[in-house]
Amino acid sequence: MTLIDTHCHLADEKFHDDLDAVLQRAHKVGVDRVVVVGDQLASSRDALELAKSKPELYCIAGVHPHNASQWNDEAVAELRALCAEGKACGKLVAVGEIGLDFYYDLSPRDQQIEAFLAQVEIAREFKLPISFHVRNAYDLFIEVVREKHINEIPGVVHCFGGTAKQGAELVKMGFLLGVTGVLTFKKNDDICETVHAVPLDALILETDGPYLAPVPHRGKRNEPAFLHATAMRLAHELMLPLEEVAARTMANAKKLFRFQD
Ligand SMILES: [Zn+2]
Ligand SMILES: [Zn+2]
Repeated sequence: MTLIDTHCHLADEKFHDDLDAVLQRAHKVGVDRVVVVGDQLASSRDALELAKSKPELYCIAGVHPHNASQWNDEAVAELRALCAEGKACGKLVAVGEIGLDFYYDLSPRDQQIEAFLAQVEIAREFKLPISFHVRNAYDLFIEVVREKHINEIPGVVHCFGGTAKQGAELVKMGFLLGVTGVLTFKKNDDICETVHAVPLDALILETDGPYLAPVPHRGKRNEPAFLHATAMRLAHELMLPLEEVAARTMANAKKLFRFQD
């Protein structure tokens, strides 16, 4: 059985000291590929360099809505350069995580929207899929997607945290939903309802490490090996064999990120 961790901040300093051990533990439980995510241009550059250094790592580059206030002409040039370089070496598989976060509101909302839409255009230009980050902004996000035809671009709403209705709507528009360790938490009503409301062909698995470690690792630094716990929980929830859930979510991720093997 193999799994892909489709979203992990592995270039984060929390992994600096023991990255090799982290990757060994991942391999042991079948997590044989990890998509490394940055949250601004510097960490996206780190993600690309890390991906280039290990065969099992790939990356995503973009400016998180938290950092949208840093978006400017220079950022446009830098993200375009990362996309060109990352596509050429086959290590960059999407633009992300980009979107709207009206929960923390760390950047003004108008700037979040501006940075989001500008990065959608860069994804379009480079024919790359998108990893979306959306929190407390699902209805507006759906409205903007519809208005700007963003669902012409393949994408995943990572760490999906909306309602089952919003999840079903996004899947109908053509997007995948990313399932994290939140599925294993006690307060998981929305995501539980969502995984029943959409087809399994619309789901992919992610850790979002170092955040959101699943039960029984809750509170610890989250790492790719812990993806196994989320996969088990999803299999239990859907009353399907773990192997089937692994194979099908893996196939979904491969299709989205266009992995050849
Ligand atoms: Zn996120
Ligand atoms: Zn993330």
